[in-house]
Amino acid sequence: MNALKRKLLDLIEAQGPLTVVQYMAIAFGDPEHGYYMRRDPLGRDFITAPEVSQIFGELIGLFFVQVWEDRRRPGKFQFVELGPGRGTLMADMMRAAGKLRPQFVDAARITLVETSPALREIQAKTLGSSTVNWVSRFDDIAADGPLFLIANEFFDALPIHQFVKGERGWHERMVTSDGDNLRFALTPDHVPPSVIPASVREVAPGSVIEVNPGATELVRRIAGRIAETGGVALIIDYGHTTTAAGDTLQAMKDNAFADPLAEPGAADLTAHVDFQAFAKATAEGEGYAPPITVQAKFLEALGIHARAARLKRDNPERTSEIDSAVDRLIGPHQMGTLFKAFTIFEGRDQMTPPGFDD
Ligand code: SAH
Repeated sequence: MNALKRKLLDLIEAQGPLTVVQYMAIAFGDPEHGYYMRRDPLGRDFITAPEVSQIFGELIGLFFVQVWEDRRRPGKFQFVELGPGRGTLMADMMRAAGKLRPQFVDAARITLVETSPALREIQAKTLGSSTVNWVSRFDDIAADGPLFLIANEFFDALPIHQFVKGERGWHERMVTSDGDNLRFALTPDHVPPSVIPASVREVAPGSVIEVNPGATELVRRIAGRIAETGGVALIIDYGHTTTAAGDTLQAMKDNAFADPLAEPGAADLTAHVDFQAFAKATAEGEGYAPPITVQAKFLEALGIHARAARLKRDNPERTSEIDSAVDRLIGPHQMGTLFKAFTIFEGRDQMTPPGFDD
């Protein structure tokens, strides 16, 4: 049996069922068997936009150069990436930014927020360990200059609670044991309705509502920091614009869907991001978030078509590869509309970040 499954069965035996938050946190973070701790899953279990094409990181590099220009070129800023994977996005952003504005590169103090030792090692190879700094938590970032923050496919990996509506109230979905297997079960008691966002309390019995307190608290802190020191955050992920019912917990292994409880630590677990909850957390942190946009519209506003045409002109032999990468990033049935772009900035008196200003 999968060693982490054995460990979880023993833990449930000793302490009782786990919340989905606890289950996901262990499946990811167990120091010995956690999913991200030892391996590089990118390209094997799933693929992300920066790994699809260099164009993605280049355009986002230009996004940050524009924000930096609009804020009158601060001489020093914290350039932070949450969950940088292989470091590809940061490398592509810095290369594109450096060609356009070498002073931007000089002013950037790069900090990567990463918990996985295996991925830190790969990031060091991609970026050179002398130019970047690693921390495990957002709160450990130096408060020195404005914050420029990027997070691509990071928030979908943060653990969620799942609540299921019964005939007379809400129950939390738990992970429990069934002989040698893990299975879902509901708490017999009701949870207080106040844990459910007010806008979705009236859904039909049987509906699932997901709540991610860790993610919203992090967004609140990012917004608070931006309100205090200035700067911008760009969050790209798949999810919904308004809080909605639905069970979106999913496992991916070898680029295919898997059972989320079958092999803890051996499959990736994700859930859709609730951007309405992020908008609310931004306001609570006293930051400002303009309306969310979809990835296709965002990348088009940043000039994806011109950039692709240029790349094809310089590399005619790569034409079909570039066309299919662009389709993957912005195609309506690919990443174009499921993925959303969300930005936080200072609001009043500041220029709206590019791609959000229409
Ligand atoms: N942004 C990258 C990788 C996405 S995979 C890309 O677009 O390719 C998710 C990343 O988040 C991995 O680097 C993983 O190790 C990291 N991660 C997951 N949970 C984390 C946490 N709680 N704190 C910090 N990093 C985390």
